[in-house]
Amino acid sequence: MVDLKGQYLQIKQDLDAAIQEVIDNSEFINGSAVKVFQKNLEQYLSVKHVIPCANGTDALQIAMMALGLKPGDEIITTNFTFIATVEVIAMLGLKPVLADVDENTFLLSPESIEKLITSKTKAIVPVHLFGQCCDMEQIMKLANKYELFVIEDSAQAMGADFQYNDGTLQKAGTIGDIGCTSFFPSKNLGCFGDGGALFTNNDELALMIRSIANHGMKVRYYHDHIGINSRLDTIQAAILNVKLKNLEHYNTARQKAADYYDRAFQNEQKIKIPLRVSYSNHIFHQYTVIIKDADRDGLKNFLQSKGIPAMVYYPVTMHLQHAYQYLGYRQGDFPVSEFLCKSVLSLPMHTELDNQQLEYITSTITEFLSK
Ligand SMILES: *Cc1c(COP(=O)(O)O)cnc(C)c1O
Repeated sequence: MVDLKGQYLQIKQDLDAAIQEVIDNSEFINGSAVKVFQKNLEQYLSVKHVIPCANGTDALQIAMMALGLKPGDEIITTNFTFIATVEVIAMLGLKPVLADVDENTFLLSPESIEKLITSKTKAIVPVHLFGQCCDMEQIMKLANKYELFVIEDSAQAMGADFQYNDGTLQKAGTIGDIGCTSFFPSKNLGCFGDGGALFTNNDELALMIRSIANHGMKVRYYHDHIGINSRLDTIQAAILNVKLKNLEHYNTARQKAADYYDRAFQNEQKIKIPLRVSYSNHIFHQYTVIIKDADRDGLKNFLQSKGIPAMVYYPVTMHLQHAYQYLGYRQGDFPVSEFLCKSVLSLPMHTELDNQQLEYITSTITEFLSK
């Protein structure tokens, strides 16, 4: 699905030097590379504050703690996502309120959110799934109307541009009150282990986030809040400084691979290619198709037998996960996300795909579907 080794070899010298420098200086925790990465990312995203942390899940948790959300508060999010989004809501004693997604975009729609707003709703967590932004202009309008916080889960959309009606662009994760991202190795901007960050344009929130990520302290050994320990390792920050310079190029390489897939499948009746929305570019964290009137799992196994990895993101919706049965949802409550779990297939997508590989992948798929 990814070729992290191939990507590493392209910039091996720079990465090796950056890692060696951290070791030479023994600045393993909060070393200078962390600050440099923070500044570089603030500049790239045009956002006032980047606060690095240990992983994307922590980023989401810290965001909810920083906003002062209290047990019983209702948080509206998507039923079709990676578990982390819902997990942190539940872990903090908040109530996840799940919304179904749009079948064409896999994303939360403003209409599905508005239907679920009650007097207890405190926040919305849109997830920019697979590399494309939710309709943030409409979601921010809703948030303003009902006075709700917005936490963007931008783990799959690092570098994606949201486009307002008037044409203005703004980076994913910098639109809501807080944006959260992950630098897990396979994300669009990945490090060599775990990493994450929060983004905000609000000075007060930035202070609070920084404090919570650091045991709730501003002055050493004086703890103002209950916090956690969540840092980005200096080595990871040094790696990210090198890779951030390549992010635009990486995202373009993904888009080129996606264009190839689109062309190869344009006349294939049994494949629905991913819709590209007007209000966001698509940076293809995943290239995810819907398999129609064909055996999705059979295709996946066939590809496997030909040495082609393919994955189902995601095989089970949030509301049917064992751990979340206490929320009281039932099979059938979310027709679209339940359908997607049975129909989606994500194809190999990374920065090192060449035309020969793409030709092999697409012709193998076409071969299976014509049988
Ligand atoms: C990867 C991911 C996360 C969690 O990031 P980690 O760094 O693995 O903790 C959260 N939300 C989404 C949508 C993700 O894809």
